[in-house]
Amino acid sequence: MSSAHTLQGFKRDGRIAIVGASLAGLRAAEALRGEGFTGSLTMIGDELGEPYDRPPLSKQVLTGWVPTDGTKLPRRRDIDAQWLLGVPASGLDLATNHVHLADGNEVAFDRVLISTGVRARPWPVEAEASLDGVFVVRTRGDADGLQQALAAGPSRVLIIGAGFTGSEIASICRERDISVTVAELGPAPLVGALGAMIGDVAADMQRAHGVDLRCGVKVTQLEGDAQGRLCRAHFSDGSTVDADVAVVALGGIRNTDWLQDSGLAVGVWGIACDSGCRAFDLNGLVTDDVFVAGDVARCPHPVYEYRFISLEHWANAVEQADIAAHNMVNAQADRWPHLAIPAFWSIQFGVNIKSVGVPTFADEVVVTQGSVPDHRFVAAYGYQGRVTAAVSFNNAKWLDHYRKLIETAAPFPPPCPTPDQPVDAKPVPVDFPGPVLLSQGATVVVTGHDPSERHVTAVRTHR
Ligand SMILES: Cc1cc2nc3c(=O)[nH]c(=O)nc-3n(C[C@H](O)[C@H](O)[C@H](O)COP(=O)(O)OP(=O)(O)OC[C@H]3O[C@@H](n4cnc5c(N)ncnc54)[C@H](O)[C@@H]3O)c2cc1C
Repeated sequence: MSSAHTLQGFKRDGRIAIVGASLAGLRAAEALRGEGFTGSLTMIGDELGEPYDRPPLSKQVLTGWVPTDGTKLPRRRDIDAQWLLGVPASGLDLATNHVHLADGNEVAFDRVLISTGVRARPWPVEAEASLDGVFVVRTRGDADGLQQALAAGPSRVLIIGAGFTGSEIASICRERDISVTVAELGPAPLVGALGAMIGDVAADMQRAHGVDLRCGVKVTQLEGDAQGRLCRAHFSDGSTVDADVAVVALGGIRNTDWLQDSGLAVGVWGIACDSGCRAFDLNGLVTDDVFVAGDVARCPHPVYEYRFISLEHWANAVEQADIAAHNMVNAQADRWPHLAIPAFWSIQFGVNIKSVGVPTFADEVVVTQGSVPDHRFVAAYGYQGRVTAAVSFNNAKWLDHYRKLIETAAPFPPPCPTPDQPVDAKPVPVDFPGPVLLSQGATVVVTGHDPSERHVTAVRTHR
């Protein structure tokens, strides 16, 4: 640790670099200052401008209610940082503790936090992806472009992928009275995140709102006209649809490419870390100077058999940033574990959908409260006889009750806490699609016990 040999010295004049200057990065920087860190703080981000919030990009921004520059993240405190924006980090050298930047510069650190998140999975055929009218939605620029295309009154929008983002955008299209086709390879919308039973409810909701929903089909080609504008899409069942806007909503890719030679346990599900946010190296050793937070992190959770969990949840990014920041400037005995039960929300077709826990870590699901036809209910998920998750449709006030059931491994199926227990409620198999679809639809995925997805050659550096 440079001149700062002691923890107090490090807190006073150590050097921290944060790579990824968005939600997790900003919240961690604020928490570090809140913890009394007065040393140098460098924020490295490949996007230009102030950190902003992403959830409105598939919701209020697309309705036109909120302009993209109205999505700036509120600042909780001054972070007194040096901001290096618009240039990506291209490498991490843990032998000399430097972050390399793509413009050739480098940043020295004593401790580093990696919060580089996820990017949108692009349409796989480059020439088709670059047609006018083809969008992904991850950044403010993406949302700006799509909002303008929707405002221009397209004849039809095609959404490719009916996970949360695709379904939310389909909902906005219907709200704006725009014709929309949703193409989903799986059997129903949201099926990768919430399973077949809730997927069927989501499919009914979409169709009731006038969405042309096509499940079990793949978009095989996006066709352009002579001016390079999208005009038609072809499907695996031989059918076609004419559309002038397409939104590719096929999930995300973790931004770990720049870490391939770092020696860290990096894989498609992110960077493996312990529950204190310390990164693992390829040999499964926990590092002490490298921390991870947000969508790029993959960390074990005791409630889920210590298996590694990868999340794309706003609340997780904030909680993990707080934990990482605390642990970066505190001694081992004072470190905190990240034990929060995952939570997620979405709004679509007039329904407020919320979940707690890990629905993909379940073998059964049962509606415990309310009425499915009224789209006002709670369903609980169970794994080997204990509650592991719950999802609510327009009934969020009960989710805290289910969070406690999950934390205490309460027996599944749980009793109904209110008088509105459905009469015919009985558990059914949860029925998730295979792992390929999970990678494109779920916002939380149990990724197993291995800290690294890669084949590893063990290299002994001691004895
Ligand atoms: C359209 C949309 C809607 C969403 N809606 C919801 C919702 O309703 N509910 C919910 O719970 N969650 C939602 N989310 C998820 C939520 O926004 C994320 O969980 C959250 O943004 C994660 O924050 P993060 O800081 O970990 O990652 P990110 O926000 O992805 O930030 C990572 C940052 O690192 C930068 N970066 C990447 N690589 C490099 C590099 N090599 N060098 C420097 N910088 C780099 C990226 O450009 C980015 O600025 C939504 C996400 C999107 C995209």
